[in-house]
Amino acid sequence: MAEAQPYEYRRRPLVEPDWTRFPGWRDVTRGQWESVQWQRAHCVKNARQLRDLLGDLIGEEFYADLDADQRRLATMSMLVPPQMLNTMVPDRVPDTASFYADPVRRYMLPVASDRHPDWPSHPYATRDSLHEHDMWVAEGLTHRYPTKVLAELLSTCPQYCGHCTRMDLVGNSTPTVDKLKLALKPVDRYDGMISYLQAHPGVRDVVVSGGDVANVPWKNLESFLMRLLAIDTIRDIRLATKALVGLPQHWLAPDVVEGLERVARTAARRGVNLAIHTHVNHANSLTRLVARAAQTALEVGVRDVRNQGVLMRGINATSADLLDLCFALQGETGILPYYFYLCDMIPNAEHWRVPVWQAQELQHDIMGYLPGYATPRIVCDVPFVGKRWVHMVTEYDREHGISYWTKNYRTSIERDDAEALAKRHPYYDPIDSLPESGVRWWRKQTDTADL
Ligand code: SF4
Repeated sequence: MAEAQPYEYRRRPLVEPDWTRFPGWRDVTRGQWESVQWQRAHCVKNARQLRDLLGDLIGEEFYADLDADQRRLATMSMLVPPQMLNTMVPDRVPDTASFYADPVRRYMLPVASDRHPDWPSHPYATRDSLHEHDMWVAEGLTHRYPTKVLAELLSTCPQYCGHCTRMDLVGNSTPTVDKLKLALKPVDRYDGMISYLQAHPGVRDVVVSGGDVANVPWKNLESFLMRLLAIDTIRDIRLATKALVGLPQHWLAPDVVEGLERVARTAARRGVNLAIHTHVNHANSLTRLVARAAQTALEVGVRDVRNQGVLMRGINATSADLLDLCFALQGETGILPYYFYLCDMIPNAEHWRVPVWQAQELQHDIMGYLPGYATPRIVCDVPFVGKRWVHMVTEYDREHGISYWTKNYRTSIERDDAEALAKRHPYYDPIDSLPESGVRWWRKQTDTADL
């Protein structure tokens, strides 16, 4: 008998799960389901609305657990479009156990019992863990890498992910997090960004993000993109939108498709690489509508649609989960598997975070199955450094879970720092993943020091 391969590929065609399995959507028509207005109007924003939808399919203990999380631990408020809810327990009528276990539920509707009881946060977790705000050169414009900027046009999304790395700024305040507010009017913010880019021809690449660009009124987004395209030193534009999977109805709305085509044509004429970057964490999120939205973007001339997922325990941190997702992206939707990020060191995220060594193992285990160009890189976004492939670690203290990283450029806040390129920057594994001696060491640190 031949030995089995560690992973067996089987093509799995996409489906749109039957939304009428939820009591609250028993009478919802296909026309309503495919309407972006209907989707936006029926997002679930609190435990009461979830109860109205699911009725007694789910036990009361779940709603209490959800409520406890929102009151004591959540860094993001609740906002889940029907499209995303419908990908939870997609193949049957959910019950309490299957809903608790569902991978999409685990990050879109986190509950208190999901969090780690002893170490909900790493002692070095911080709100703006990547220091994007510190690197603002105009409101919402982060200049971290020499040739690239991140333009946060707004601070809202059509959906709020529990693990959002921009929890400092994005979404409504929660009982535990009073969010930073953008102060300028949008028009003034956009003007400030454009002026900076006109004055800095060394910046050639703009990630247009937020929040989620799907929440920028289309005419405002199109006008901003056309202004970017008029700067001849800008050669790459990437639109960041999880809504491509969370609310594909937005990217299929006729006014958005027509506008995207105008922008894509202009980009092509000017030789600018226009791409969409989305954020899918599990194969269950990929449905026929998502594939239609991605393929429509490609048909109207967007050069590429790429996925930047987040590696999270309990959701996708096995090689089989990652490969299932990547094959569905690459083979069924036309979305290129591009990156998986380690979940950033924000508060109350320890139960999701994966240690660097495990990420290295996963990178090893997914090699060789997908086409090379569609094999995603697993990266660690190291504070003050930027993205590093997980094998690029300079030194790694496994006992205490501290890895050290270097970089080859200065960020915008280090221009006068002669030592910037010689520094080693630490990153920390989740404490519950350490050997007992490492856990004891951290306990002592937190007992005796003001970390
Ligand atoms: S879509 Fe992106 S920016 Fe918005 S909440 Fe999710 S992770 Fe954060």
